[in-house]
Amino acid sequence: MSADYLAALPAATQEEIKQAAKIIAEGGLVAFPTETVYGLGANALDAYAVSGIYIAKGRPSDNPIIVHVSSVPMAEFVGEVNWMARYLMEKFWPGPLSLVIPSNPVVPETTRGGLATVGVRMPDNPIALALIETADTPIAAPSANKSGRPSPTDAETVRRDLGKNVDMVLDGGPTLVGLESTVLDVTGEHPVLLRPGGVSKEEIEKTLDMEVLLASDANSLKRSPGTRYRHYAPKVPLVLLDKGQHAFFCNSINKKWAWMGISEPPCAPEQKIIFRNLEEYARELFRAMRALESSGVEMIVAETPEEKGLGFALKDRLIRASGV
Ligand code: AMP
Ligand code: MG
Repeated sequence: MSADYLAALPAATQEEIKQAAKIIAEGGLVAFPTETVYGLGANALDAYAVSGIYIAKGRPSDNPIIVHVSSVPMAEFVGEVNWMARYLMEKFWPGPLSLVIPSNPVVPETTRGGLATVGVRMPDNPIALALIETADTPIAAPSANKSGRPSPTDAETVRRDLGKNVDMVLDGGPTLVGLESTVLDVTGEHPVLLRPGGVSKEEIEKTLDMEVLLASDANSLKRSPGTRYRHYAPKVPLVLLDKGQHAFFCNSINKKWAWMGISEPPCAPEQKIIFRNLEEYARELFRAMRALESSGVEMIVAETPEEKGLGFALKDRLIRASGV
């Protein structure tokens, strides 16, 4: 019944994955590509191994880690898959949708950040799937960056950020989506969107034929500990600019600034990165932030994206990066 993801890969990649799977089995840390961003993985069932992730990232220990699986039966092993979860898995997996479900006791508290629930996801990346399958265990993996830094979308950035703190980095080239997964809590009567991502609220509502609630009240903040922390902060301030603010901005700016967006900048910046469309803006966002913060500018000015499709998740990441 196994999909045999490993056999579909080139021989050299197979060898690397076997080595990586051995590291995971022995309690080590392996960074690997997914379709969203690079993950820092450990055996999700080994509390000691998972504590290594928190240490390597400098991550608060009450922020739970998403568990990556290579099949629905593996998801059923880690948690309780109700009808909503099953429906969404069938429709969106493998893909950028993490589902928060009641945890089975087999998942240590360290992985769950002390919660009774567990976040599960099946990534849409052949290397990630082959790694999980070969290690023959669910793999806990947050983004492979130091806590509070932008998520890495290529292997080189992982090496620069985590260095010796990771035992092995599997290089699968640049990631395709560039933003982290949607996180959806399906433990209650209504699904609750804890973090927008590659799968939109509208797509989920259409699939379930039911309303998806937004996690904006204090109660759901408690349920998604990650949303309490400042994230994705570049080293220089980042501000979002709406069209209506252009004239004011251009008249008052007295700093060296960089522009990123789909449109041309409203006045002359020191540096600029123009994306072809919303998808490219999302895919390249973290790379662009890292490039611009070390380009000598004092401020990054980001065009506010339109709130459609991926734009909702993109705006969420920009707002977090701006620290408002
Ligand atoms: P990352 O660290 O980028 O992988 O982000 C994972 C996100 O999913 C964080 O915001 C976590 O707080 C959230 N998350 C993971 N597991 C759970 C869970 N069991 N309940 C609520 N939120 C979760
Ligand atoms: Mg992260």
